Amino acid sequence: MNVLVINSGSSSIKYQLLDMTTERVMCSGAVERIGEAQGTLTHKIAPGTEGEDKITLTQPIPDHEEGMHLIIGLITDAERGVVKSLDEIEAVGHRIVQGGDLFDRSCLVDDAVVEGLTKLIPLGPVHNPGHLAGIRVSRHLFPKVPQVTVFDTVFHQTMPPRAYMYALPYELYEELKVRRYGFHGTSHSYVSKEAARFLGKSVDEVNLITVHLGNGSSMCAVQNGKSVDTSMGLTPLEGLIMGTRCGDADLAIYPLIGAAKGMSIEEINDLTNKQSGFKGICGKNDMRDIHAAVAKGDGRAKLALDMFGYRNRKYIGSYLAVLGRVDAIVFTAGIGENDPVARELSVRGLEHMGIKLDHDRNLAPTRGARDISSADSTVRVLVIPTNEELEIARQTVGVLRAS
Ligand code: AMP
Repeated sequence: MNVLVINSGSSSIKYQLLDMTTERVMCSGAVERIGEAQGTLTHKIAPGTEGEDKITLTQPIPDHEEGMHLIIGLITDAERGVVKSLDEIEAVGHRIVQGGDLFDRSCLVDDAVVEGLTKLIPLGPVHNPGHLAGIRVSRHLFPKVPQVTVFDTVFHQTMPPRAYMYALPYELYEELKVRRYGFHGTSHSYVSKEAARFLGKSVDEVNLITVHLGNGSSMCAVQNGKSVDTSMGLTPLEGLIMGTRCGDADLAIYPLIGAAKGMSIEEINDLTNKQSGFKGICGKNDMRDIHAAVAKGDGRAKLALDMFGYRNRKYIGSYLAVLGRVDAIVFTAGIGENDPVARELSVRGLEHMGIKLDHDRNLAPTRGARDISSADSTVRVLVIPTNEELEIARQTVGVLRAS
């Protein structure tokens, strides 16, 4: 079965076509800058293999419909297309960031699902309108193909109320659904299952702390394969220090800076989401640039790295307390998979809690799933590459089989 995975944002559509018999990626790419004077499309055939072939287009892409037309044109192109016709695409899986508490599983798209996603726009104003645009165009262009929505929030729907409630007036939860939802669920779910497999156990018998460190970062306490707490909240702003997001911060900061700087709520939202985190502390949001700056003696970059490690350790410590027994700490995503310094800083000083890194294994430039803890570490420390597109495609197949 060929599954087209779509991640449609406000001005972009990222996609991957997977052959789910072999779980091989046939092609992938992204349309970006939709609605701007010039848009781009990057299309890779057989990505990551020796036969990789890349096509780049630059032209105005006025809307999502035009973007999808371009993607379909390349996928089915007579010469370089990976399928002969659209009939060979048997399902479309849509990544959805905010499913609120309306969705507790991946599901087939129908009008009620579209209505639910529309209702959730106030809780996901940045992402859900772009997802809806992708679903609308995709239903129009693939009318006979089943479409499945896979939510970033679903994995965290197993959190108990003590973990997802804010200690704010209860009416805010009842009236506005103000609560913690958590994000990156597709990644936390995927690496939990892969980690269990790596440990030779069934996922429902493992307790894990999954640590997704990328441009956006979050941590999850996984008990018997289920999320019982996670660091992101109502939105992806809460929790760890990220590329441009501040993570946890005292809410009283916002009226203070609003009054002192004459800033509107929108401006403060932009400040905390796009101008803070590593970027706010040292002017750089990419971890590789931060390391380069630290090497040149940049004190602010060193502070950003210090703060990042400290926040991560605090969360790991708190999730050890939440879980009691922990089989493994699982690092994943751009920083988690590639950066031994960030991993070391995240567990430094936790040896007395049974977490011991093997220095050489941590530094080894190996790819793929691996154990980087020392033989006498009671908690394993693993690196498991995430694959959100594959997880979305697997869940899409799962929904179709069950329907
Ligand atoms: P992601 O959002 O998962 O794509 O991760 C993006 C983050 O991963 C950025 O901060 C990158 O700097 C970081 N990253 C990617 N590769 C490396 C690497 N080799 N070493 C350190 N950080 C990396």
